[in-house]
Amino acid sequence: MSIRSIRQLVPALEVTEGAGVTVHRSIGTPALRNLDPFLMLDHFGSDNPNEYIAGFPDHPHRGFITFTYMLDGHMQHRDSMGNQGDLKPGGVQWMKAASGVIHSEMPQQTNGLMRGFQLWINLPASEKMSAPAYQEFSAAAIPEVALEGGRVRVLAGEFNGTRGVINDPATDVRYLDVSLDADARFSLPLETTHHAFIYVFEGSALLAGAALAKHTLAVLGEGDTVEIVAGSTGARFILVAGRPIGEPVVQYGPFVMNTREEIEQAMADYRDGKLVKTRASMSGTPA
Ligand code: MN
Repeated sequence: MSIRSIRQLVPALEVTEGAGVTVHRSIGTPALRNLDPFLMLDHFGSDNPNEYIAGFPDHPHRGFITFTYMLDGHMQHRDSMGNQGDLKPGGVQWMKAASGVIHSEMPQQTNGLMRGFQLWINLPASEKMSAPAYQEFSAAAIPEVALEGGRVRVLAGEFNGTRGVINDPATDVRYLDVSLDADARFSLPLETTHHAFIYVFEGSALLAGAALAKHTLAVLGEGDTVEIVAGSTGARFILVAGRPIGEPVVQYGPFVMNTREEIEQAMADYRDGKLVKTRASMSGTPA
């Protein structure tokens, strides 16, 4: 067994997005442009409605997947595939923009709170211009596995024989929400080929003897197992892993392609009203 250590610690930066929303970004900043296949991780968390209430009015995406996990509050969304819904606390939304989607994401607070994550997952060249797809599941549909000293919500991929609700075959993404009691230990075998990260959002934890602070993303080094010990007030974190794609990444805002020419095509298509090529079918159990 080889334990994965920390390869890099990336403190989240405050970034203003959308119509004036403050998010805490870790992947997708100068310190960590991307972590193949992950392009961006935004943590939105606020008890100040002014920081997010303006939301994200209609905007395009092409070439990748957005994966949104709500912890508190909710988010109303509407897209060019015809999906509209209201992602509630504990719910998850997977949107494969692929050849093109235009959507709006409008966060709403509940009892003054709004918290969640949005992860951008890249697509291989062979999938970038494929048809969009959509999966959405409410909190009740997400399997929860009890541990000695904690619990794991399995959003995508597999944990101890339990499969998550989101199926993401292109890069085999695993996405777990792990809660640990004070001083509890957590150990998990991870594919040696996959890039992985941990983001602590409550309490604190130790990984390979190093402290994981809140709102700091830890990129895991090589190895076949991850081992974490919660701090004295417990810990809650997301653990995400995926198979790297290994292709050139050319990004311009909401378009992520392999070449400059493909980015120019995306901008021209958006300008000419041709970004959206396909309406997709929907699966899941939206709230
Ligand atoms: Mn979006």
